[in-house]
Amino acid sequence: MENPYEKEKIQCVLCKHNITVDYKNVRLLSQFQSPCTGRIYGRHITGLCKQQQELVQSEISKAQSAGLMAYYLKEPVFLQDPELFNVEKPIRPHRF
Ligand SMILES: [Zn+2]
Repeated sequence: MENPYEKEKIQCVLCKHNITVDYKNVRLLSQFQSPCTGRIYGRHITGLCKQQQELVQSEISKAQSAGLMAYYLKEPVFLQDPELFNVEKPIRPHRF
């Protein structure tokens, strides 16, 4: 029988599919943005590794200053996109 408590090999979605985030790929970046506030989800929600999370954040601000992405909301066209992670189930519980 397999050990149910065995840890899964930790690899974030971006590393797993070997995706490089780019500020021009607004659709992908929007996946890390909250639909309500436009804020970028933290690492405990996105499950990204540190490098990828920092990259996502810098690419998002690049896209925002280039006018490709909104600051306070998510593009309505992207709202139906499949989610890369479950917002309701953060890896690490948060304070609120
Ligand atoms: Zn990673």
